[in-house]
Amino acid sequence: MLKVNNIVLRYGGILALKGVSLEVNKGEIVALIGANGAGKTSVLKAIMAVERVSSGEVYLDNVLLTGLSTDRIVSMGLCLVPEGRRIFTRMSVHENLLMGAFLRKDKKGIQDDIEKVLTLFPRLKERLNQKAGTLSGGEQQMLAIARGMMSRPKYLFLDEPSLGLAPVLVDEIFKIIKEINESGTSLLIVEQNAVKALKLADRGYVIETGNITISGTSEELLNSEHVRAAYLGGH
Ligand code: ATP
Repeated sequence: MLKVNNIVLRYGGILALKGVSLEVNKGEIVALIGANGAGKTSVLKAIMAVERVSSGEVYLDNVLLTGLSTDRIVSMGLCLVPEGRRIFTRMSVHENLLMGAFLRKDKKGIQDDIEKVLTLFPRLKERLNQKAGTLSGGEQQMLAIARGMMSRPKYLFLDEPSLGLAPVLVDEIFKIIKEINESGTSLLIVEQNAVKALKLADRGYVIETGNITISGTSEELLNSEHVRAAYLGGH
C-alpha cells in the first residue's frame, strides 16, 4: 500500500500542501480531483521527491520513502508520468522507451517489457523508429505512459493524461489505463476531467487549496452534491 501521511509542501512563501493524507491500496485506481492550482501536481511531485516536503511522510508497504532520492523511489516501484508528456522529441519511440528503463540492468527483461508495452499500445509499435516529436498529441501521451511502464512500476502516477486530447483519444487512453491496472499496476490519476476519472477509479479524493476536503468511493463522489456542483459541471 502507498500511504501519504500529512505532507506539507511550500514553494518559498506559498503553502501549496497543508497536510495532505491519502492512500492507494494495491490493485486500486484512485482519482485525485480539484481545481487549477489546488495542489494536485504538488502531491505527485512530493511523493516522487521531485519537491521536498517540509513535514509528513510517504510510505510504500510500510517502508519510509521520504528522504530518498527520486531515482531510488523509481527503483522501488513508483513512477510519475508528468503533465505535458515531456517525451524526448528528437529521439525515436524506441529510444524513448529505453530511456524509461534507464535504472534497470536486465537487458532481456527490458526487451520483453518493450514487447509488452507495444502490445498495450499498438499505435506505438507501428511508429517504433519514428522521431517522437512527429507523433500526434495522443500518441505522445501514449508514449509518455509507455515509457513510464518501462520502469516496471507497482504504482503509476498519471498527471492529466487526457489534457488537450480529442474525446476519442481520451477514451482510448482511459481504456489502456484500465488494462494497465488489470495487469497488476496500482494507479493514482490527477485529472481535470473529473467525471471520466471517477468513472474509471475505485475511489477518489478532492483537493481544495492544499487540503483534502472529501474522499470516498467513486460512486459516493459522483453522487455528492458538493462534488457535482463544483467539479462535475452540475451533471
Ligand atoms: P494545475 O491543474 O493547474 O496544474 P494543480 O492542482 O496541479 O493545478 P499545483 O501545480 O500543485 O496545482 O500548484 C499548487 C499551488 O502551488 C498553486 O498555487 C501554484 O501556483 C503553486 N506552485 C506550483 N508549483 C510552483 C513552483 N514551482 N513555484 C511556486 N509556486 C508553485
